[in-house]
Amino acid sequence: MGKQEDFVLRALEERDVRFVRLWFTDVLGFLKSVAVAPAELEGAFAEGIGFDGSAIEGFARVYEADMLAKPDPSTFQILPWRGEGPSTARMFCDIVMPDDSPSYADPRYVLKRTLSRAAEQGFTFYTHPEIEFYLFKNTPAAGDEPVPVDRSGYFDHTAQSMGADFRREAITMLESMGISVEFSHHEAGPGQQEIDLRYADALSTADNIMTFRTVIREVALSQGIWATFMPKPFTTHPGSGMHTHVSLFEGDTNAFFEAGAEYQLSKVGRQFIAGVLRHASEISCVTNQWVNSYKRMMFGGEAPSYICWGHNNRSAMVRVPMYKPNKGQSTRIELRTIDAACNPYLAFAVVLAAGMKGIEQGYELPREAEDDVWSLSERERKALGIDPLPRNLHDAIGIAEESELLAETLGEHVFDFFLRNKRQEWEEYRGQVSAFERDRMLPVL
Ligand code: GLU
Ligand code: MG
Ligand code: MG
Repeated sequence: MGKQEDFVLRALEERDVRFVRLWFTDVLGFLKSVAVAPAELEGAFAEGIGFDGSAIEGFARVYEADMLAKPDPSTFQILPWRGEGPSTARMFCDIVMPDDSPSYADPRYVLKRTLSRAAEQGFTFYTHPEIEFYLFKNTPAAGDEPVPVDRSGYFDHTAQSMGADFRREAITMLESMGISVEFSHHEAGPGQQEIDLRYADALSTADNIMTFRTVIREVALSQGIWATFMPKPFTTHPGSGMHTHVSLFEGDTNAFFEAGAEYQLSKVGRQFIAGVLRHASEISCVTNQWVNSYKRMMFGGEAPSYICWGHNNRSAMVRVPMYKPNKGQSTRIELRTIDAACNPYLAFAVVLAAGMKGIEQGYELPREAEDDVWSLSERERKALGIDPLPRNLHDAIGIAEESELLAETLGEHVFDFFLRNKRQEWEEYRGQVSAFERDRMLPVL
């Protein structure tokens, strides 16, 4: 047994841990958990804990259902909301097949495989997510309008604000689990919050995002309110995105940085953006995986609708943030499509794969968009070569089905399951008769 495993076994005793939750993520990004007694852990590290893969969304067909969850000791943390002594801990797991080979259906493995392909070219992938979400007074019930906890807006500071208290408690909890928070503030919508995590390697960030969602929901419940990462809960207020700042490092050097280049952006950085732009539509159904995701990206509201990049241009899909001289290591790009309800493992994998394609094939970066692209006419955008992102899940699926990059990155099993599942979601949605239709038609037709 390795050092990290020993550390975990010692910590179990020292912290009086009675339950260890083993966490993993299904293909759609929902957290799964099985609690084991501390005595089981040695065996879990060696062989894994068996479960029925066919009962997990996207994992296995019934005839090949046996799978094992193998905890990753480097992710050991005590769950702060379960109280001290006796306490509860968690570890993220890798999913393996009975012969110990990695499961093709495990999103964490999809990301690891993509990271190791980039590592073969000498690159490490770093991500920094800005996670937005809404807080409601009421627990969702069918047919009820959600009621936001406040009426504040962007950066508002209000006395005795529910949001500020909420953020303080959530951030304290996240920090106690080793997840560093860089910024937090009220976002533009009523009750809407944003918390930004410090940049880290993409696998840690994806794990952190899964933990983040759980912490946010736990804190909300403990305060008698409801938190949601739904991309667009209101027609008339902005949606919740998960803008993600990304960069590639070669050892300790930021590969996106070149002193003296335009915006301090190296050739590698430019090619990476070019890759993300060229493949944006193909990977859209992963970065924005729900019917509802596409409603966030059609009204401006600082969520992108068009495939373009810009320097400090918040209408662009990829933004190159203002750079600080002498801060080359922080050179990065901000990808503004991703929403907070994605599967972060798959979303980071497809973004990295698209960027790497740009580097490998030496894609040329198109001209930057200097205008507010929402205020341009359709014709002006066409003249500038700016194409729209898929307008709904149906279009996104259609494009994804043809994508070699997506099939290669997700692997055949996840690719097939994912697209089948999304098609089904679209078909169910397509048949729904909505309040919009009734309100418009019943009075006049
Ligand atoms: N809420 C916006 C979105 O959906 C982003 C606002 C911002 O610029 O932070 O992407
Ligand atoms: Mg924001
Ligand atoms: Mg942003």
